Amino acid sequence: MKKIVIAIDGFSSTGKSTLARVLAQKLNYTYVDSGAMYRAITLYFYQQNIQLDDVKEVLNALEHIEVHFEENIICLNGEKVESQIRAMEISNRVSEVSAIEAVRHFAVEQQQRMGEKKGIVMDGRDIGTTVFPQAELKIYLTADPTIRANRRFQEILQKDSTIDFKTVADNLKHRDHIDSTREVSPLRIATDAVILDNSTLSFDQTVETAYQWALAKIND
Ligand code: C5P
Repeated sequence: MKKIVIAIDGFSSTGKSTLARVLAQKLNYTYVDSGAMYRAITLYFYQQNIQLDDVKEVLNALEHIEVHFEENIICLNGEKVESQIRAMEISNRVSEVSAIEAVRHFAVEQQQRMGEKKGIVMDGRDIGTTVFPQAELKIYLTADPTIRANRRFQEILQKDSTIDFKTVADNLKHRDHIDSTREVSPLRIATDAVILDNSTLSFDQTVETAYQWALAKIND
C-alpha cells in the first residue's frame, strides 16, 4: 500500500496530538508530536537559564541538546521528560523559544529526516507549510477558543487541582498570538490544506473524518 505524509496543524488544544496519534495507530504509521520537541528544547533552556536574546548562548545550548522519541515518549539527552514538558512553566515559555530562528532550524531539520521514508503523521504549527510542504494530506484542525480552553483546563485539572480556568485560557491566548504572528514559520493554513473544525464533533467523529481523508489519499 502507498505510504503518505500527513501533516496536522492548528492552534493549541484543538486535539491535534491525540488525533495524530490515533490516526497513526490506525494506519500503522509513525507518529511525531513536533510540539513535544519544542517543549523539550524549552525545558533545557529553562533548566540551564539560557538567555533567549543571546544568539551565541542559544546556538551553544542547541549543540548540547539531543531529542528523540521512544515509543512516542519524548527524550531529552536520554531522559524521558514527558511530564516535565507539560508543566505550566514550560507552556508559558515555549512559544518565545519556538519563535527563535535557530531553534526552528534545529527542530525542522530533524523533523524532515523523520519523514524521509513517509508513513508518518506529524502534528504542529508549520508541518504543512514548512516541514512537509509536499505532504499528501494536510489537515488544519480548528475549534472555538472557549471550547479549546475548556478542553485544556479539564486535561490539566486531572493532574493539578489548583489550576484555574483563566490561567489556562490566558496561556492559550498568549501562545495563539505568538504562534500566528512570529516572523519565522508562523501558524498559517496551507493553501492546499483541508480545514476540520471539531467544535461540535466528538473525538471519534474527528478521527473518522481524518481517517477517510487519509484513505482517499492513500488509494488515490
Ligand atoms: O503542540 P503544543 O501545543 O504542545 O506545542 C507547544 C508550542 O510549541 C506551541 O505553542 C508552539 O509555540 C510551538 N510549536 C511550534 N511549531 C510546531 C509545534 C509546536 O512552534 N510545529
